[in-house]
Amino acid sequence: MRKLFIAGNWKMNLLRSSSQALLAQLRSSLSDVANVDIAVCPPAVYLRDAAEALTGSNIGLGAQNVFSQAEGAYTGEISCGMLLDVGCRYVILGHSERRAIFGESDAMVNEKLHATLRSGLTPIVCIGETLEERESNRTLEVVSSQIRGSLAGLSNEQMEKTVLAYEPVWAIGTGKTATPGQAEEVHASIRSLLATMFSDAVSQKVIIQYGGSVKPDAVADLLMQPNIDGGLVGGASLKADLFSTIVQLASKIHK
Ligand code: PEP
Repeated sequence: MRKLFIAGNWKMNLLRSSSQALLAQLRSSLSDVANVDIAVCPPAVYLRDAAEALTGSNIGLGAQNVFSQAEGAYTGEISCGMLLDVGCRYVILGHSERRAIFGESDAMVNEKLHATLRSGLTPIVCIGETLEERESNRTLEVVSSQIRGSLAGLSNEQMEKTVLAYEPVWAIGTGKTATPGQAEEVHASIRSLLATMFSDAVSQKVIIQYGGSVKPDAVADLLMQPNIDGGLVGGASLKADLFSTIVQLASKIHK
């Protein structure tokens, strides 16, 4: 039985005061939720403040990116050790914006993933196809290739600790959510691929989130799908009422 996991990716939004206000609202509105794992991923400069604001709560803290090296002359980068030091538990890797805007390849994501797992942080590895790739019927080929490249060299034990987020690029920030059927088809294929790359038992344990314009009105139907285990939420995670409603709806789902 996989526990649903809802994470909010704040991207490069909010300032210190607005992020503190959002955390305070989420902390109070979500305090009763025990059957869903919850996380928020604020910008790196606010992680320390966020950790303090969330101390003792049921909301975990994640970063949006990390570098693969432990320390050294890597101007502007942040290590896994630093994220742990300020109270993070999760880190998002290979988000489509990092792949498209900052040129992150599967090989780079793979290096970051190994560093993340070595450190004890929980990685959330993003994969997903563009509109052009979907329209040319290459969705499963693209997602499989991203998975093989990004997850190369993981042991079964490491795979079980890795969260995946299937995020069709055409659905991110566009208001277009994949239909439950479209998302489930890809999630089921991902799980089958994991069974061949690792084992059936491992594949059944891996949390696979869906991401792409997740809003309260669409989330329940998505989460009811057998292979969708949660959501990675962008825009709606910036509004306390929307994010809380998404988590509350998830907490009512029994699969
Ligand atoms: C995301 O960027 O991870 C995301 C899913 O964004 P949005 O919910 O805004 O589409």
